[in-house]
Amino acid sequence: MKVLVTGGAGYIGSHTVLILLEAGHEVVVLDNLCNASREALRRVERLVGRELVFVEGDIRDRALLDQLLVEWPISAVIHFAGLKAVGESVQQPLAYYANNVAGTITLCQAMQAAGVQRLVFSSSATVYGADAPVPYQETMPRGQATSPYGASKAMVEQVLEDLCRSNDLWSVAALRYFNPIGAHPSGEIGEDPQGIPNNLMPFIAQVASGRRNTLSIFGNDYSTADGTCERDYLHVMDLAEGHVAALAHITTPGIACYNLGTGNAFSVLQMVERFSVVNGVEVPYAFAPRRAGDLPAFWADPGKAGAELGWVARRSLDDMMRDTWRWQQRNPYGYRQGYATQTP
Ligand code: NAD
Ligand code: UDP
Repeated sequence: MKVLVTGGAGYIGSHTVLILLEAGHEVVVLDNLCNASREALRRVERLVGRELVFVEGDIRDRALLDQLLVEWPISAVIHFAGLKAVGESVQQPLAYYANNVAGTITLCQAMQAAGVQRLVFSSSATVYGADAPVPYQETMPRGQATSPYGASKAMVEQVLEDLCRSNDLWSVAALRYFNPIGAHPSGEIGEDPQGIPNNLMPFIAQVASGRRNTLSIFGNDYSTADGTCERDYLHVMDLAEGHVAALAHITTPGIACYNLGTGNAFSVLQMVERFSVVNGVEVPYAFAPRRAGDLPAFWADPGKAGAELGWVARRSLDDMMRDTWRWQQRNPYGYRQGYATQTP
């Protein structure tokens, strides 16, 4: 199948492109590189020994999308492109709604005009909102968003629901990711945050490597076993495989939402301790005040994805720790410098 992958140069996108190529699909990536490096896709091509088509451009560029969908006989779209920093979304809500909501609408308009109506969308566990009981299940309604980023994901799900209701040629899977971490086991591709990492795992890895001094643990007075927040961390390779499973499933009309998580939760302290033990490195940390908007604990009920997509997260927490550290050690400064095989 020929698949258009928006945002395919990014963290989850690059791992998914690799799995798609390995599964024999042909891939066209559209990415404006606002938060990614072209190098990631060069490495994917080297790892798989197959080529992909890369188009540098924006999902809000309707003319480009029209041209692309005519030029390539695309069968389905996996849509990762978007902005994802929760704190930044509070500062710049218009940028988030323009990219994530308006951008998705432009993409769907172009797809509809071209008769390409199979879509896998990157949603998020954040759509369950602040008050949902755990574990999260897809039968629960979307809740009150805790940030413009979260609202943008919930809005897009609503747009896609309405679109599917209006026209039964559309078939959509909205994948609600929990906390993806880790990297390809080769250490060649991984998460490459710009500047100071917002997320826990890249921060732990950068502290362990000496690039940063101390991890701040945001809050140790939550109502959890050790007082720190608990999350459902899943390996990015498992998440990537979930997209290929969803792709095979979007053949019937309508939208289906799936939780992609392991069903297990670990605390921030457990994550730090496990990273240290598995990799034999120190991760100095200090407790800091709570981060605004953080929920104490949430995790997935992944049963629906298991039953309908045949997907389960197979990799262990130790795999996630080892693969994160291998990527960090081989690429201390991400794709930009410090790695022998990097293309000049
Ligand atoms: P990422 O930033 O690494 O990847 C997003 C990619 O989209 C980047 O390559 C960026 O350059 C590109 N992009 C952004 N705006 C674009 C635009 N207008 N046109 C074309 N390309 C554009 O992020 P990621 O972690 O790989 O996340 C992928 C998707 O999954 C995002 O939609 C994100 O919101 C969602 N998601 C991520 C997480 C997570 O923890 N990483 C959790 C839940 C959902
Ligand atoms: N966290 C932390 N220090 C950091 C980054 C994150 O203590 O430098 C905590 C954060 O408060 C949350 C957990 O780690 O409880 C996971 O945060 P992340 O941003 O990775 O994912 P989120 O669940 O917020 O999307």
